[in-house]
Amino acid sequence: MRRPVARKLSVLAVSAAVVSVGAAAPPAAESTAVEKVPVAVGYGGAVSSVDADASAAGIEILRKGGNAVDAAVATAAALGVTEPYSAGIGGGGYFVYYDAKSRTVRTIDGRETAPLSADSGLFVENGAAIPFAEAVSSGLSVGTPGTPATWQQALDKWGSKRLGTLLKPAERLARDGFTVDGTFRDQTAANETRFRYFPDTAKLFLPNGRLPVVGSTFKNPDLARTYAELSRKGVGALYRGDLADDIVDTVNHPPVDPSSGWNARPGDLTAKDLATYRTKSQAPTRTSYHGLGVYSMAPSSSGGTTVGEALNILENTDLSKASEVQYLHRYIEASRIAFADRGRWVGDPAFEDVPTKELLSQRYADSRACLIKDDAVLTSPVAPGDPRDPAACDARGTAAPTTYEGDSTTHLTVADKWGNVVSYTLTIEQTGGSGITVPGRGFILNNELTDFSFTPAGPDVHDPNLPGPGKRPRSSMSPTIVLDRHDKPVVALGSPGGATIITTVLQSLTGFLDRGLPLVDAIAAPRASQRNQTTTELEPGLYNSPLRARLEAIGHGFRLNPEIGAATGVQRLPNGKWLAAAEKVRRGGGSAMVVWPAS
Ligand code: GLU
Repeated sequence: MRRPVARKLSVLAVSAAVVSVGAAAPPAAESTAVEKVPVAVGYGGAVSSVDADASAAGIEILRKGGNAVDAAVATAAALGVTEPYSAGIGGGGYFVYYDAKSRTVRTIDGRETAPLSADSGLFVENGAAIPFAEAVSSGLSVGTPGTPATWQQALDKWGSKRLGTLLKPAERLARDGFTVDGTFRDQTAANETRFRYFPDTAKLFLPNGRLPVVGSTFKNPDLARTYAELSRKGVGALYRGDLADDIVDTVNHPPVDPSSGWNARPGDLTAKDLATYRTKSQAPTRTSYHGLGVYSMAPSSSGGTTVGEALNILENTDLSKASEVQYLHRYIEASRIAFADRGRWVGDPAFEDVPTKELLSQRYADSRACLIKDDAVLTSPVAPGDPRDPAACDARGTAAPTTYEGDSTTHLTVADKWGNVVSYTLTIEQTGGSGITVPGRGFILNNELTDFSFTPAGPDVHDPNLPGPGKRPRSSMSPTIVLDRHDKPVVALGSPGGATIITTVLQSLTGFLDRGLPLVDAIAAPRASQRNQTTTELEPGLYNSPLRARLEAIGHGFRLNPEIGAATGVQRLPNGKWLAAAEKVRRGGGSAMVVWPAS
């Protein structure tokens, strides 16, 4: 096993029991460094996230008797500190929960919403779409945050601890600091120019006007205070009152440095938008795959329907017997087709007639699977079919390109000793979100509304993802939990990566379920991502392999993508044992932990 060196060395006090398999137990000490390892096996529950401090926060809660939901909230809050460019209380996400007692999966849609004043022309100026980058770093792209409400909703329904207790490790981390690693510095550097447009952001993330130094301690006392306020007053403080007022003011008057020359367009978010925000509890998507139940997020995310449709298409072949070339060929083509349907049919179901059930029907998948040939490649953009009226080898609709989505975000996966599981993806959209920090509050606001189509995807195309009042932009987040025939968990996983989330989850699932890869290797496997585009993106591990030429011989075209996704997962083993798995290398490697490592 490749073991990346420890990255963010924590100043958190961590118990000696919090170590991963294979790692020697550190001596019990007040301030123990947490080694960042990609796989851990043991008892008492498991946490996998991209960050060692965040995984340790979840483990701390599990050790104190908290359940998976409690630990997931603690981990997410800690990620808001150590991964502030990917996630935080200024953003949104999707929470998928397996309840061991009832053996059922439930979900919370905590997606950001557009202001009530928004219409389909939100990103149109003088008849043309605003340039994407200009929309990103603006108040216009900020949706009402859903993350704090998601935490409270999850705790009210399934948690066992108070929010204040669960925010403690994150508050400590924000106050006392974490150690800067290369990924944090690189992400800051990539955002440096636009962070300087917003003095509050520059002050926080460019201490003394400079990039944070690797190995230095990074503190965020403003965020520590904000977490303390939420602990005292509850998350309502973010939706009504001072904190809400600060958010409204920041979005509507972005605190931009006038000398920067940046046109930070204001948004139109009101106190009413915040006060009326609600998460949505809804049934998960369910796809049966070789006798297993694959559960994920229903719209407003396209994750569950798109991964599910692709799995149904792939079920026409036994991927465990396919050669590596056949496997990749079919995986690429199934993704291509599923993305064609995603573009046509999926948007916020409160505004659009989304045929969720029909998209997930095996009959529809079979009608689309027959488009796939063993010796030829489909030409993108492939047209969508009509899931409400499946016809053999169907592709009747008008083809539309897949629009761009950012590639930040973070995913965490938690299991507890009772057998409950959480698979939770949360985001502020781009790495660094809108780039706008709420002054004195220590967190960046999202730019999630840029996930809407700015203009219809094509002239004769019905685009279900245009902005609307209070509407949720379509997401690709795919937090997934797989159950066996007895409705017991097999595996749970998810990833960041914008639209590539869908392909990363699909490839990791098939790698694990069909190709016999251990979970950590299914996550580490070099990725391919096809999203109904002319060329398929390949990571270097595939781009530089002989497999590429063999796929090109069938007709595939490729382009290089240096890094796709950053997945985490947990796997249930017999007798209460769990395996946590994370990235070995991507984004500096993830952090897998269990409460009691198996010897
Ligand atoms: N905003 C994207 C979505 O909701 C996620 C962005 C990302 O993964 O970086 O699908």
